[in-house]
Amino acid sequence: MHSELLKYVVIVGSSGVLSLSLSLYGAFKIRDSPRVKHYVILTFLSSVFAFGYMFEMMSTSIEEVKFWLSVEYLPLPFIPAFIVLMCFNYVGKKIYPAFYYLLFTVPIITIFTHNTNNWHDMYYKKIGFRNDTPFPVADLVAGPFHYLHSFYLFVCIMLSIIVLLMELRKSVFQFQMQILLMVSGLLTPIIASYFYLNKLSPYGIDLVPVSIGLTCLFHGLSIFMFRSFNVVPIARDTVFETMQEGVIVLNQKGIVVDFNNAVRQVIPMLHHRMVGEHILSIVKENKALVTIIQERKECDYRHEAGVIQHFHVRFSEVYNTSQVYVGQMITFSDVTERVNMQEDLRKLASIDGLTGVYNRTFFVRQAEEMFISLMKRGGVAGIIMFDIDYFKTVNDTYGHEMGDAVLRKISEVVQKNVRPADIIGRYGGEEFIVYLPATALYEAHSLAAQLREAIQNTAVEADGVKIRVTASFGVAALDIQLGNAACTLDEFVRKADQALYTAKRNGRNRVEV
Ligand code: GH3
Ligand code: MG
Ligand code: MG
Repeated sequence: MHSELLKYVVIVGSSGVLSLSLSLYGAFKIRDSPRVKHYVILTFLSSVFAFGYMFEMMSTSIEEVKFWLSVEYLPLPFIPAFIVLMCFNYVGKKIYPAFYYLLFTVPIITIFTHNTNNWHDMYYKKIGFRNDTPFPVADLVAGPFHYLHSFYLFVCIMLSIIVLLMELRKSVFQFQMQILLMVSGLLTPIIASYFYLNKLSPYGIDLVPVSIGLTCLFHGLSIFMFRSFNVVPIARDTVFETMQEGVIVLNQKGIVVDFNNAVRQVIPMLHHRMVGEHILSIVKENKALVTIIQERKECDYRHEAGVIQHFHVRFSEVYNTSQVYVGQMITFSDVTERVNMQEDLRKLASIDGLTGVYNRTFFVRQAEEMFISLMKRGGVAGIIMFDIDYFKTVNDTYGHEMGDAVLRKISEVVQKNVRPADIIGRYGGEEFIVYLPATALYEAHSLAAQLREAIQNTAVEADGVKIRVTASFGVAALDIQLGNAACTLDEFVRKADQALYTAKRNGRNRVEV
């Protein structure tokens, strides 16, 4: 074989091998993504075409050339159609049955006219060998139906490019790269056809089979390299970007394939470069989010970054147009206002309006919880009850206003002196109660003594009058050994109340146990 011819045979043959390998790889991947179906068919057609052309090049008689041409024309007429189908599928455009018919009309005409060329010479005006080449190269003079086929290829490629470019605008950076790679892949057959039809290619060799191999390669790179061919084809709407809700799309393996701007409120570190990374590796610093995503449970998520925001997190599954599960979508809706309102309502229902400490009902509920856990786990706890001394006299002498001021001031003093875990309630008019978790009797006693002194030393001022009041304290404590717990919160409170009564009887402004 002429060495120059051998070179081209090797090039065309390699293109066939490349397409075939891509087709096999795609077929292997098809389980993960049914969307590569058209790609697998396209690469297979393209490899048959390349191999047919390779043998055509090696042919030395017109009969052989005609035989290999008819082999090439089994796949070739359908290649443009599958390019279109692949691109439509890629951007998630729905394909209507009528469009299929339209798309396959020209290939059928091409096959028919090509195989009946002997009768009408409308596909090739002439089939012969060139006489200006060092080795035999088929000289095919195109007839009208050949031009129809070329025109059809051109229209299909243009349509595909337009469909891809329309998607470009709406896409995030990585998908833009993918789309551009595909578009450049589509341009190579056009350039090759231009060279061939204008007799610019070396020895008049048709480079379209090689260029389609390149198209397959570019599309393969774009589809397989970016690990994200599963959900990508779902078209992004502008709605997605302008949504108030943050949305992040994952494929079935948890890889981020898409997200909108709003989701950055929740995951500020998210960046377009991270498309293709696993979601858990992106949020790994945020333990709460990791748990939510792992459990996939609809819930509220508290996000603290300077200000506190609350998001309602929802999970939904994503299916492609053939109803195959391709991944999931996580939606974050800002519910800060709702949560804050609930918090306010809860406070209103739990706080005593005058003093700002818990009201009796709420205090009992909270203390009950702590008390139950004490009974379960064992340990110590204390209760302090106190009542302001001669408070009626304060009201009678200085007026109700002064009485209220005293109540407010005393609550303030007590809140300042107890520990964060202690809970304070207004138990009656001027009677208060403090529940002290994990506190032994001597600690409860010393805290009560500290409070008594603080109250005694505090001056209350209202309407320019300054007075001091005192209070009497009753202290009780429990030491629960596991197994012999037989006490109720009521009984516990009553013990402190009895001690308070004793303190009143023994002269007031004192602490009794
Ligand atoms: P003792 O030392 O025995 O406790 O004497 P006391 O005068 O404090 O006892 P008593 O229980 O008879 O008085 C409680 C008074 O507290 C009666 C009531 O008018 C007053 N009081 C209850 N709630 C409020 C309130 O919200 N504001 C004001 N200003 N007074 C209140
Ligand atoms: Mg009193
Ligand atoms: Mg009282």
